[in-house]
Amino acid sequence: MSSGPRLGAPPSEAPWDHEFDVVVVGSGAGGLTAAIAAHDLGQSVAVLEKSDQYGGTSAISGGGVWVPCNHLLVAAGADDSHDDALAYLKAATRGMVSEARLLAYLEHAPRMVRYLEEKTCLRYRAMPRYSDYYPALAGAKSGYRTMDPLPFNAARLGDEFARLRPPQPGTLIAGRVAMTAGEAHVILCKERGWAALFMRRMLRYWMDLPWRFRSKRDRRLTLGSSLIGSLRRSMMDRDIPLWLNTALESLVTDARRVVGVVATQNGRTVRIAARRGVILAAGGFEHNQAMRDEYLPKPTRAEWTVTPPANTGDAIRAGQGVGAQVALMDHAWWAPTVFVMGREKRRALFVERNLPGCVMVNRLGNRFVDEAAPYSEIVYAMYADHRKNNANMPAWLIFDAGFRRKYPCGPLLPGMVRPDKSIPAAWAGTVYFKADTLDDLAAQIEIDAKGLRETVERMNQYAASGDDKEFGKGSNNFDRYYGDVNVKPNPCLAPIAKPPFYAMRIDAGDIGTKGGLLTDECARVLREDGQPIAGLYATGNTSAAVMGPSYPGAGSTLGPAMTFGYIAAHHLAGV
Ligand SMILES: Cc1cc2nc3c(=O)[nH]c(=O)nc-3n(C[C@H](O)[C@H](O)[C@H](O)COP(=O)(O)OP(=O)(O)OC[C@H]3O[C@@H](n4cnc5c(N)ncnc54)[C@H](O)[C@@H]3O)c2cc1C
Repeated sequence: MSSGPRLGAPPSEAPWDHEFDVVVVGSGAGGLTAAIAAHDLGQSVAVLEKSDQYGGTSAISGGGVWVPCNHLLVAAGADDSHDDALAYLKAATRGMVSEARLLAYLEHAPRMVRYLEEKTCLRYRAMPRYSDYYPALAGAKSGYRTMDPLPFNAARLGDEFARLRPPQPGTLIAGRVAMTAGEAHVILCKERGWAALFMRRMLRYWMDLPWRFRSKRDRRLTLGSSLIGSLRRSMMDRDIPLWLNTALESLVTDARRVVGVVATQNGRTVRIAARRGVILAAGGFEHNQAMRDEYLPKPTRAEWTVTPPANTGDAIRAGQGVGAQVALMDHAWWAPTVFVMGREKRRALFVERNLPGCVMVNRLGNRFVDEAAPYSEIVYAMYADHRKNNANMPAWLIFDAGFRRKYPCGPLLPGMVRPDKSIPAAWAGTVYFKADTLDDLAAQIEIDAKGLRETVERMNQYAASGDDKEFGKGSNNFDRYYGDVNVKPNPCLAPIAKPPFYAMRIDAGDIGTKGGLLTDECARVLREDGQPIAGLYATGNTSAAVMGPSYPGAGSTLGPAMTFGYIAAHHLAGV
């Protein structure tokens, strides 16, 4: 037992309802990785999940992990090195994260992903052309660091499939058919063979008759569904309990360490002992408006996030309750989001902005960012522009009939698949706005018409020359990754000239908050004086992000969530 400073009152004399070596709070990728690793290191472990479905945001995500020097990259003979990765991370995190944590990530992320491949059902593919998000920084690579989960057969989950949080319709073809990130890229960017691939995927879905009689959901799990489905199956193989409807309320301490948790289970209070430690992996505080108001830049609204509703910062508050320090609370994994009718409510615009024939403007009708920049950077730019001009929040994505016909945008499928006349009437004026002239469009959305007209004129000149002289849209590998390969000279630029014109309202949304409990390189939660709290670990969005204010590449949130879960399991097992 640690001989650190005293923590507070001893635990009450009430008996424990359950006892384990390790209690993991939250069933996202960080929590499940930690649980499996702890089990394999000889610990008894249980996972508590507040919601009636498991998987959290991780289950609805792309499932990608960003892992420099991963074993698949090495096997493919791709160019990467520890020094390049460290230089890149140091530049991206701008001194806001300790070098010890960056080094821990670089050392353990490749081990974590290799361990999961060798010991669990999860399989990854390194993506050869998925560029790091800041190609201009030293040490950036143009591919292979992002890894995409391979498909997983839902039938292997048996009845547990019903409790896996379903993907958002936006990540499926026609809201039904699953795609890997690689397939999505081919179809969206209209690469060679995209139409045949699209037809193959549709046919496979509809011809899977035995499964079609059972479920509308695709049995071919991809992206976050594959990630969480694979990890869940691996937990089942090990008989690791996962308790749904079980919400952490507070941590139990004795004089020196965290010794367990109090939780509410189906309305009843339960006390669960954690002989070696508690790993908090309960996501961020996206849905807690009071915490957003307290910490995030303004304006900020819980309804702008795209994450599931149970992430209300409970574990961050529980950690603070035992003296933990928090950091990066004013940052999020930002993403521009748009309003969607129905169950989904919000969708992030990850890639549409890169495609040619659109422009993003503020209320003055002016651009303020390279539209194809990483999603996090778009929202940072929205806040910066708002501070400068008080004319952002919302921003607007403007496009023309050509863009509308060819490409999806938020909930709008390409017009050639689903024309305006087949879209519910209620979407007009809410989900999207439409007018025959730019002036009329500007009037509808109450932005400056002259500013918009001039912006579009300049954009059209850039489309002709291929050179965006203001913000460099399409000038680097990352921008072009989601461009249309058939559009020349710049796959991210095309004229916005063909009426009718469209607008979508963009809010400063997120795919998770990134501030939380400050941890060290062993994933131990630190108190205000910088000393670890014995028996308490945190990972994922419950912890302050190892990536600091940056988003170095696709997979920069799940990679650390899983890696520091893996590190925590090793540390508390004493390995
Ligand atoms: C559409 C989309 C795509 C994305 N794609 C990627 C990607 O490809 N790569 C990437 O790196 N990131 C991606 N992200 C971001 C990433 O999914 C999240 O940052 C990540 O899943 C957070 O993991 P986590 O384990 O911290 O939290 P979560 O996965 O949200 O898990 C937290 C769990 O804790 C539970 N919980 C909350 N409170 C309690 C409590 N009191 N008691 C018990 N349980 C509790 C929640 O219900 C939830 O199940 C994406 C996000 C979205 C929305």
